[in-house]
Order: sequence, then structure tokens, then C-alpha cells
Amino acid sequence: MSNSTKYVFVTGGVASSLGKGIIAASLAKLLQARGYSTTIQKLDPYINIDPGTLNPYEHGECYVTDDGAETDLDLGHYERFLNVRTSQANNITTGRIYQSVINKERKGEYLGKTVQVIPHVTDEIKESIQLLGAKGEYDIIITEIGGTVGDIESLPYVEAVRQMMWEFEDDCIVIHLTLIPFLAAAGELKTKPTQHSVKALLELGVQPDILCCRTEHELDLNLRKKIAKFCNVASEAVIESRDADSIYEVPLLMQAEELDEVVLKKLGLSRKSTPDLDAWKDFLDRLNNPVQEVTIGLVGKYVELKDAYKSINEAFIHAGAEFKTKVNLKWIHSEKITKKNVASKLEGLDGILVAPGFGSRGITGKINAVQFARENKIPFLGICLGMQCAVIEFARNVIGWEDAHTVEISPESTRSVIALIEEQKNISNMGGTMRLGAYKCELKAHSNVYEAYNREVINERHRHRFEFNNEYLEDFEKHGMIATGKNPDTGLVEVVEIQDHPWFVGVQYHPEYKSTVAKPHPLFMGFIKAALENK
Ligand code: GLN
Repeated sequence: MSNSTKYVFVTGGVASSLGKGIIAASLAKLLQARGYSTTIQKLDPYINIDPGTLNPYEHGECYVTDDGAETDLDLGHYERFLNVRTSQANNITTGRIYQSVINKERKGEYLGKTVQVIPHVTDEIKESIQLLGAKGEYDIIITEIGGTVGDIESLPYVEAVRQMMWEFEDDCIVIHLTLIPFLAAAGELKTKPTQHSVKALLELGVQPDILCCRTEHELDLNLRKKIAKFCNVASEAVIESRDADSIYEVPLLMQAEELDEVVLKKLGLSRKSTPDLDAWKDFLDRLNNPVQEVTIGLVGKYVELKDAYKSINEAFIHAGAEFKTKVNLKWIHSEKITKKNVASKLEGLDGILVAPGFGSRGITGKINAVQFARENKIPFLGICLGMQCAVIEFARNVIGWEDAHTVEISPESTRSVIALIEEQKNISNMGGTMRLGAYKCELKAHSNVYEAYNREVINERHRHRFEFNNEYLEDFEKHGMIATGKNPDTGLVEVVEIQDHPWFVGVQYHPEYKSTVAKPHPLFMGFIKAALENK
């Protein structure tokens, strides 16, 4: 371990969904704003190798990095807050740890030893944590441990933290995030669950340095002192984490609580600099004081689960703030859109986005929504499956190929306008085998995408198996759907646009993954601009 790299571990107690990811990202933001190069890592205790095979109902959106890792959605927060790219090394799962240990065992690397959770699994975890630090790129690495302390599956992770705290005493601290519930009947905030949670950590040999207390009400000094006393931390290290209107307020709330001060002090790092948060505050100011609004319909099949489209939601927030525009996202269930009700379901929208997805559920509704946007000249953005639906709709209703479809859903169609490329044809494993990660795309001049990006070559992230079928490209272009973006190496179509439409863009890639507070995504900005003009 490089002596200069410091490690901050973030654990959670009492309940899940307390917002460890946002606290970690906010702390990282404050440290970064003081000039410390910081990155965040998420350790997920489930046995899947990655969340790529998980249904969004299980774990929300699958976030994709430049290097093609399918990761936990918290990595999206990290990138959005820090504007620093993450990679496979930033997300480790139990599945990945065990896969590596078992591979080593098969290779004979353990030299005849009995392979055990301690030390082999914990060593593997520690190595994964230190891998990010080994590059010497970062001053501080924040490692968030998924799950809640006391879970059976997170035990090896907490044990790895315990060992690191022991081995590198001066370079590691633990922040424990807990809940201070308000009991309405008693009219009081209750600290006992936090005391119990810290006790559970202590039983595993880990004494937290800082407690971050999620609460709906103010933690007064007495309460802070009480928590400090029962949990063996300094009262300045009891940090209040109040519910915020927006996740983007949290860095400022944490700054007001001096979380960054306490962390730097505990790590023995200089506190001389003050965080430069001017750009961040500027963004918040634009976000909180909109001068106009637009309503965008998001057509997808997971509308009851907002986490499924997390990055799209955030990309609209970033791009909207850029124009001081409040973006009202109306979530519309694709399964409920029929030819008959499409007009009433989508009327009054300033723009329509058809979401990514897999499988046949809701596909007809998505195609109906595309048709409505195309025919009524409503600004349209189709992402991944949304783009594929736009292609299918155009083939059916403009070119006249009635049974046009994607091979994913209807392999027997005579017009497979979305199909498999050669290298995908013989793949049988589901995990990690799609076209994943960043690929180059060349944009055509005088197109809406070119205007949005204002550059010829872009780099965007992918997560899909099926592609526009280039056999039919000429027919599409003859009828007015143009490929305005192509991969320069493979010729694969990445962007389609309809000429006779004010703003109709379908992208095979996922622009939403690259939108950050510091750099709102140009395509989302272009879409909002078009929606504003359509009002
Ligand atoms: N199911 C489609 C494919 O695999 C689209 C994927 C997506 O929308 N991310 O090509």
C-alpha cells in the first residue's frame, strides 16, 4: 500500500437505503473541492459477478463505465458528483471475489493450503480495495460497503476493514451511517438503534471514527453528546444528515456539519485549503431558481421504480439547470399505451423519451409512442431499445414493412431491421457478453446530433446486444431516416434521425451515463432546447 493513499470506509447500520452512496459522493466532492484527488469504490456483498444480470426490480439501474463494467448505480452518483471516470476496479462483488479466489485455487496458487474465508477471501477483498490506491493516482479512496452491518453476507468485508484498520492505523478511518428515528408517540428522536448498530460493529472488531446520523429532525447538542458517549466517538464526529430536497444539496449540508474537516483531521491531512464549491453552488442556484419549465414524457416499463432510470433522471436535472429550466418528467407506462389511447396519454408533452430495455414487455406501447412523436413532430429521443423501436416504427409505418421487428423479440420476422452482428451470434452466456462500454462514433455534419455535440467524433457508452441491420440502411435513408452517427471502425449505426422532423434522434448508446453536474450532457441539452422550442 502506498503510504500516501488514505482510506475512508463507509458502513451502514440500522436500515438500508439511508443514502451511503450519496454521503460517500458528497464527502468525496468536498475533499476533491479542497484539491485532494479522490475516488470512490463500492463493495457489493451479493454473489452475482456484476449487476448486469439483475432485473432492475432487484437493484435499480445497471450503470456502465467507459471500460465496459456493468456496475452498481451508486457509481453513477460518484461520476455525477466528481466528474471523474470510474472503472471495473470501483465496483467489487462477492461473486467477483470468490471467482478470483477459486480461479487461483484451480491454478494451484495457494500452494496446498486450505482455502478459507480468512485469510484468502479477506486478502482478496483487501487487494481489491488497495488496487485503486496502488496506482498512486488518488490521495483518498472512499470505500462504501454495501448492505447493513450484521448481514451475514457482509461479514468478510467488515473483517477486511478490521484488518486494514489494524495494519494501516494512520491511513484508515471508518464512517458509520445510521438512522435516528423520530418516534411520534414519544415526540422524540431515538438513539438506541444507533447504539445497537455501533455495538454490532464493535463485536466485529471495528470502532467507527465518525457517525453520520440520518434524521428527519435536528440533532441538538445534548443528543450529539449522548450518541458520542455511548458510541465512543468525539461529539464533533457525530454528523447530522438531514433529509434534503435534492441529493445535490448534500455536499453543502455535509460541509456545514464539517464532515470534511473531521475526516481530514482524523486522517492527519492538512485542512488549510477551503473547498472551492463555486461551480457547484452555481449549479444549485440554477437548479433551484428555474425561469421556465418543460414537460418530458418518459416511456418505459419500469415507471413504478424510479431507480431503474436513475441516470436518465439525473441527466435531465443537469441539462435542465443549464437552461434554468425545470424539467417535469412524466413517467408513462409503456405497457399501458395502446393505439387508441396514445394521444390522450401523450398529449401536452413538450418532448418524448423512449427508454432503454430488454425483452418484449411494453414494446408495442413504445412503438406507439414513437409513432405519435414522429407524426406530431414532437421532439423525440430514443435511447438504445428506444432507438430500436424508432427504427421498427419507421420500417412499419413509413417504409411499409408490416412485420418489421427486432430479432430479440421476433426472430421469425421477414424484416429483421434490428439484428445480431456476427460476433454476437454464438454467444450463450448472458453475463458480461453484450457490447459494453465506450465506443467511438462519427457524426454527420448538419444533423441534430452534430449540432448538439458540436464535434465530429464522440465517445459514448454501450450496453446492448442487437444492432441496426445495415442491410436495410439504404431503404431507410431513401425514406428519410438517416444514419447520422456511425462507428468509424465497424460501420455500425449509432444514431438515426428523421429528416422531416424538427428533432427526432435515436441513439444506440446511452448518453445518460456520461452526464455530470460539471458537464451536463450535450444531447440532453439539445433535447431540452428542442422541447423548449416546441412549447
Ligand atoms: N435489448 C436491446 C439490445 O440488447 C436494447 C438494450 C438496451 O436498451 N440497453 O440490443
